Amino acid sequence: MGEKNEYYYKNYQMIADSCLMTLSKEHGLIYGEVDGFDMVLYPKKKSTPYALTVVLGAVKAGDADIAKEIKNTYKFVNEVKFKDNHLEIELKELKEEALSSFNNILKAFAALLKSKGFEPACENCGKSIRTMEYLQGEGSFQILCDECADEAKRKFAGKAEENSHKRERVILGLIGAIIGAAIGSALIILIGRAGYVTTFTGFVLGIATVLLYRKFAGKMSIISVIVCLIVMGAAVYLSNRAVWAYAILNNAGAKEYGMTFLDCFMWIPDLIKEKYIDSSDYTSSLVKYILFTAVGGVGMLASEFRSYKLENRFVPIRK
Ligand SMILES: [Zn+2]
Repeated sequence: MGEKNEYYYKNYQMIADSCLMTLSKEHGLIYGEVDGFDMVLYPKKKSTPYALTVVLGAVKAGDADIAKEIKNTYKFVNEVKFKDNHLEIELKELKEEALSSFNNILKAFAALLKSKGFEPACENCGKSIRTMEYLQGEGSFQILCDECADEAKRKFAGKAEENSHKRERVILGLIGAIIGAAIGSALIILIGRAGYVTTFTGFVLGIATVLLYRKFAGKMSIISVIVCLIVMGAAVYLSNRAVWAYAILNNAGAKEYGMTFLDCFMWIPDLIKEKYIDSSDYTSSLVKYILFTAVGGVGMLASEFRSYKLENRFVPIRK
């Protein structure tokens, strides 16, 4: 744990203490009960650790205007999400002095909900019985009663079992990745021929490669990451070379000498060696494509891989 985290946790501990709640360093959140409502406080975005989000299970038929009212009443509330029995209040970045009076903030939320006829409840069945906080995947919380939690756990365990038997079809995945990369390459070449290097085309190449890999392979793993990176790298290299080959063919008069696209494509290393093509121009367009593809592809890979790893994760926060 870094120095920065220690600092946050010191302040989280302060919040937890002032609210008589518990800090869980393991899950990076605070949980407990405030005036009968089970609540979970967690930093929704890592970049804004004091923009805590309050999750609570509360039930009332109809009337979702409460979300609007909370947002209008408290200036430090950023957003209120209210769906079924799940209420999420996203707070703005808090100043340190506000942290020590956090209890008042939570008590005010509880009082407002109570005055509107809300009851603490299980998010799933809506029964007003003692609930528990559950963590499902990254940054997704539920407040459930024991019965609903047991049922959800069983369902998750079944899915995990099913998933562990599912084999990753690497060859099919590779074919998918190549199709995705080909779509992206076609776009790069089409737009590149018109003389443009755009962020969009590289982005499409990256995303299409990963998405089609997953669709065809049925499962993601560290092998998927390697396969996708290789396919993306090869596609970007070939696309850039093709864009240059078209430029030589059409603009440098190669066509008049009876040369074909393929001739130009094969000729490129020699042209660079003979300084007919400025190697820094050539490299800089390649680097641009790599960067744009990385933005789409690596981002997509990271999120797919993370969601794969977090799939079927369902743990009680309260020990
Ligand atoms: Zn329930």
